[in-house]
Amino acid sequence: MTQTHPTNGPPDFERSVTTDQWLRFTEVMQAQVTPGAWQTWIQRLEPSFDGQRLTLRAPSDFHLRWVIDKHGQHIEQACLTAYGSDVELEFTIGEPSEEAEQPLLPTPTDSGRRSTDPLPSAPPAPERVARLVRKYRFENFVVGQSNRFASAAAMAVAEQPGRNYNPLFIHGNAGLGKTHLLNAIGYQALEMYPGMEVRYVTSETFFTDFINSIRRKKMDEFKARYRTTDILLLDDVQFFDGKEQILEEFFHTFNSLYESGKQIVITSDRHPRHLHTLEDRLRSRFEWGLLTDIQPPDVETRLAILRRNAEHAAMAIPLEVLEFIAGLVSDNIRELEGALTRVTAFASLTGEPISHPMAERVLQDMLPGHESKAVDAPEIIAATAAAYGYSVEELQGPSRKQPLARCRQVAMYLCREHTDLSLPKIGAQFGSRDHTTVMHAIDKVKSVMQTDREVFDRVSELSQSLRTR
Ligand code: ADP
Ligand code: MG
Repeated sequence: MTQTHPTNGPPDFERSVTTDQWLRFTEVMQAQVTPGAWQTWIQRLEPSFDGQRLTLRAPSDFHLRWVIDKHGQHIEQACLTAYGSDVELEFTIGEPSEEAEQPLLPTPTDSGRRSTDPLPSAPPAPERVARLVRKYRFENFVVGQSNRFASAAAMAVAEQPGRNYNPLFIHGNAGLGKTHLLNAIGYQALEMYPGMEVRYVTSETFFTDFINSIRRKKMDEFKARYRTTDILLLDDVQFFDGKEQILEEFFHTFNSLYESGKQIVITSDRHPRHLHTLEDRLRSRFEWGLLTDIQPPDVETRLAILRRNAEHAAMAIPLEVLEFIAGLVSDNIRELEGALTRVTAFASLTGEPISHPMAERVLQDMLPGHESKAVDAPEIIAATAAAYGYSVEELQGPSRKQPLARCRQVAMYLCREHTDLSLPKIGAQFGSRDHTTVMHAIDKVKSVMQTDREVFDRVSELSQSLRTR
């Protein structure tokens, strides 16, 4: 039987071969669960079959967990009945094929391929830098009072992994540069030690990988994947909070890496002591190495970050405009960047030179005294969908046709600008899309806004109406 690539789905002829088995599967399932559960949960799983493995794709992380929790055994049974005992059952989420479109390096497949080939020194082999975001390197990280210690520690770890601070635990609020530093460590280490294996993983990915490995009885591969890497970069560990099974597994991963002198770097939006369900044994390990925080940037750092961004802009931006923006946004670097983007986009679209009064006009809704309302991702998605004439389901669905895809990208961009959500969390709001997809969408919208008036107007109007509703 042909081996199909799991991210592309099986070719049609295989789909037709499997139809009878799938029908049988659905019959068995329908007999086992209530019609409500069938409709809400099971029917929305999208099957694909490659002759050896039945893959069920859930629309979201939450959906997957629910299905496995409540109906895992039934599904396994139905798979056995319909497909026989030789077929493996696998769960997955979202729509990984979308990643293929990105300018980023390809990511390893679920089977966790690890190359043993010697590496060319630059650029690092794709599988080793998988999931690192190129923009997030040390050279693009502005050091200031608020992040000096964290960035020095990150640099030290990248230069001598497993030596100085192990684990390195970085905590701080959203939008202050944790993910940026993690990626920077990965890139720097690979530059210095091209043969090293670096693994960046969000805690959500670690979790789904773990679940799948159990399902597929591939725990040995999972262990090989995470316990032999030279540097493990685990982002947003707070999402493990409350999930006992994964905490247990991570405890073993941690010990194994630590004992063999491998570097572990962890980020979290809070201090380990505020990760409430963490057992003391894990919490104390987090504190074994170096614990450091990132604070909101002071005004000089904000200005330095804006100047750095301004260097990449196509036009000159007067210092007083940068100062104005630096004074406007204080506690989230993401918003700071968003404000600058709006100003430069407006200027390049209208041809109007950037000036203080113009920036004030463009950023009206951010001015002090302007009552701005907190919005969440569902509100943003609903508003964006409505503005483009789509339904929320379409935005969360698999189709990548234009202009739907653009609308989805705009919604992702707005989520980034208006909420504290991390990239993986934003991805989860759109039918479990990967964080690199979100990253790509944000960059895309940023650049399209500079050249496409309609997109700029849409984004600005949505931004304004979301803030001031
Ligand atoms: P977190 O992971 O803490 O939520 P991110 O690492 O995603 O934050 O940072 C948000 C945005 O701010 C990113 O675009 C990042 O590049 C930028 N950023 C954060 N800190 C800095 C810094 N010190 N210098 C330059 N850019 C920064
Ligand atoms: Mg982050």
